[in-house]
Amino acid sequence: MVVHFYRKLRTQSEFLGLTTAGLATLACGKPERLEQTLETASMEEKQAVEFITAHVQAIKPLAIKKNLASWVAANSGKPEDYDKLSALQLKIRQVYSNPEDFVLVKSLKESGKVKDAIQARQIDRLYNAYLENQIEPELLKKIVDLSTEIEKNFSTYRAAIGGERVTDNEIREILRAETNSAKRKQTWLVSKQVGQVVYADLIRLVKLRNQAARKVGFDNYHTLSLTTSEINVEELDRIFDQLDKLTSESFSALKSELDGHLADMYGVKVEELAPWHYHDPFFQEAPLIYGLDLDSYYQNKDVKELSVRFYASIGLDVESIIARSDLYEREGKNPHAFCTDIDRQGDVRILCNIKNNHYWMGTMLHELGHGVYDKFKDPQVPYLLRTPAHIFTTEAIAMLFGRLAYNTAWIQQMLELSDEQRMEIEKVSSKYAKLGQLVFARWVLVMYNFEKQLYANPDQDLNSIWWKMVERYQFVKKPKDRDAPDWAAKIHFTVAPCYYHNYMLGELLASQLHHHVVHNILRLESDRDVCYVDQREVGDFLREKVFESGAVYHWNDMIERAAGEPLTPKYFADEFVN
Ligand SMILES: [Zn+2]
Repeated sequence: MVVHFYRKLRTQSEFLGLTTAGLATLACGKPERLEQTLETASMEEKQAVEFITAHVQAIKPLAIKKNLASWVAANSGKPEDYDKLSALQLKIRQVYSNPEDFVLVKSLKESGKVKDAIQARQIDRLYNAYLENQIEPELLKKIVDLSTEIEKNFSTYRAAIGGERVTDNEIREILRAETNSAKRKQTWLVSKQVGQVVYADLIRLVKLRNQAARKVGFDNYHTLSLTTSEINVEELDRIFDQLDKLTSESFSALKSELDGHLADMYGVKVEELAPWHYHDPFFQEAPLIYGLDLDSYYQNKDVKELSVRFYASIGLDVESIIARSDLYEREGKNPHAFCTDIDRQGDVRILCNIKNNHYWMGTMLHELGHGVYDKFKDPQVPYLLRTPAHIFTTEAIAMLFGRLAYNTAWIQQMLELSDEQRMEIEKVSSKYAKLGQLVFARWVLVMYNFEKQLYANPDQDLNSIWWKMVERYQFVKKPKDRDAPDWAAKIHFTVAPCYYHNYMLGELLASQLHHHVVHNILRLESDRDVCYVDQREVGDFLREKVFESGAVYHWNDMIERAAGEPLTPKYFADEFVN
């Protein structure tokens, strides 16, 4: 299941479901061919085929049940439906925590004698899935209990301003609209109070996770987590260092401009700007100060119809997805959006809460991006590999299409606007896209580098490390004498550990694929006016080079095969820097 939090929240249960769901399968259902190959196969290869076959027979029906239970729960919101889901998630987890199976998979992997690439790839994926679940039951229980406890504190803690309790949404609204600096400061401080409540437990949780990682031979949980998700820590460091260098100057210039506007709005000097002047409590989104109202263009439009028509125009039919989906608001229903692949053989659904406005246009394009990736995988690919190459590669496709909601050529063509209307939008939309992407990139650099430090040594002075990172990457000054666990107020450290980098990798890949499409598929000099509408070759390229192979190749091999080189931040910089 691909949950679309839009970088906001995810629950522990969804997270567990996600890490174990991306697995299991049968060799490709052609017994004659299989027997022939087996005659010349090594003992290890025979064992691998047997293990994979038995494993898929066990896991596939469980995974389908779990996905259906998750769908039912998200649609009903009933506690008993969530209980059913938790029970199924636990069952799946139990499969992957079996120590004897792990020993066998490990020996098959380490023997080097499983030569068939598809089998070896399945064994690798199984190895990672088992490895991350080899935590003794007692330690696992401690970890789950403690993270549930912290999560509960997050959801029940109500900050108070002057004795009056405020919700997260109220805090956001004040930080968006309030012009009095003192009130902004007070509200920002209140938004960080939860950090004080949870930080000691969170540090304990980090230590427990590290303890589990050390038992399976890793220096800490951060390294384990990245390794089992097939990401090499040094390589990610290199990519993010490069991203830092590529975006630093341009971000600095845009932020100076932004600071000028904010200082005017709040009647303070630029030097007096503080963290509470940037609308989002963590400055992870661009403040909406340039006046862009795209909603009015959607008043008499149908977001669902626009989505279906657009995807059909690039040769990726989404009717079968729409027919199974749940698209509109209802009491009790999950208010967010996600896409789920129920059975890896065509039952793909999205959950949305559509209103005819700009936000839901972008969200529909995004979710259906996940949807087409899931729908157009080659059914011949073994079940265990019939998933996206990586969680961030499906995020990339969703982002590639979601970005169209800010693409003025796309808006003009799909909404039939005049040139004047388009010019009106263009004045601010590209600025927002750029500012939004750079603000987010710099924020991810804080999250990634801080979390790495957090797991490397949870006993160091985390409060000051956090602010050093914020000053270095976001150019936001630490308030004088501030020494508080502001970092702990970010719920992701608790419920989605070592995951945040995937959002950024998705953005980088979206830009890389866009660049490749423009220059090598459409053979254009620049992406001016490119919006994909009616260009079937775009859909063909993605289907053939990205979707169909599923996870047959390691994500970086898939990217190299599709776009001619491994993942790089340079095309993200081309698109959003300068
Ligand atoms: Zn998504």
